Amino acid sequence: MTSDLMPAAFIGHGTPMNALEHNHYTEAWQGFAASVPRPRAILVVSAHWFINATAVTAMAAPRTIHDFYGFPPELFAIEYRAPGSAEIAVEVADVAKPTWIGLDHDSWGLDHGTWSVLVHMFPEADIPVLQLSINADQPLEYHVALGASLAPLRERGVLILGSGNVVHNLRRIDPGRGETGFDWAERFDTDARTIMGADPGGMAALQRHGDYPLAVPTPDHFIPVLYLAGLAAAAGTATETLLDGYVFGSLSMTSYTLGLASPPVTAGGDIAEAPAPIPDPAVVPPYDTNI
Ligand code: ZN
Repeated sequence: MTSDLMPAAFIGHGTPMNALEHNHYTEAWQGFAASVPRPRAILVVSAHWFINATAVTAMAAPRTIHDFYGFPPELFAIEYRAPGSAEIAVEVADVAKPTWIGLDHDSWGLDHGTWSVLVHMFPEADIPVLQLSINADQPLEYHVALGASLAPLRERGVLILGSGNVVHNLRRIDPGRGETGFDWAERFDTDARTIMGADPGGMAALQRHGDYPLAVPTPDHFIPVLYLAGLAAAAGTATETLLDGYVFGSLSMTSYTLGLASPPVTAGGDIAEAPAPIPDPAVVPPYDTNI
């Protein structure tokens, strides 16, 4: 891997409370960011922009979107004021041709799949950030292929991040499980990890996995990892596991990197020992939190 090729990553973002936390997940995200050259721009495929089109944000000042319910006011107060870039949006649309990517000038912005991670990775918010939507009408194979087609952006200093969760089932969340996973969650996550470490281009085959219906009841949080899988396949290399772990039984936090020259550095310090609580299920059921 040459040093002028920007690394890429998939981040398991978990609950938006991670934006306010300092835990072993946020520590690893920070370590990853500290290990990459300063990006010219950051392109994020977030689980939370799941629409019926393929689009890239192209506004100069994307708004911070607080797309969740029942969380404390501190989380709604976060503003991540990174600039956007119409110019880089056009570059993204160009490299993806003949796949069509629309330019979004006034609809989306930066949702919590993006900013809950970037507040840790790039707290200064001084690097242009763009989001690429997930086209809900397309099969998994489309997303692997689109990810692969974005590979030239790595040569142009663009840091590409997928942000979702390989296993994400809000209806099965059990806060009592703390940082453990259900058997089916661990099985699916482990098998995904095997593929990401050996043949990432084959990730779409997981839709036939016996645990897929429980691990991926809707594909929005799973698809972002397919973009990293596509990039890895295009580079002819496998991905590395940045961290793994489970939260509340039915979320996996597993994160992957591609093309890091050396392992990420971690700063250490006081780390939270338990995941931050989600809203009281009696007030907002986990499925309605939109995490
Ligand atoms: Zn999410």
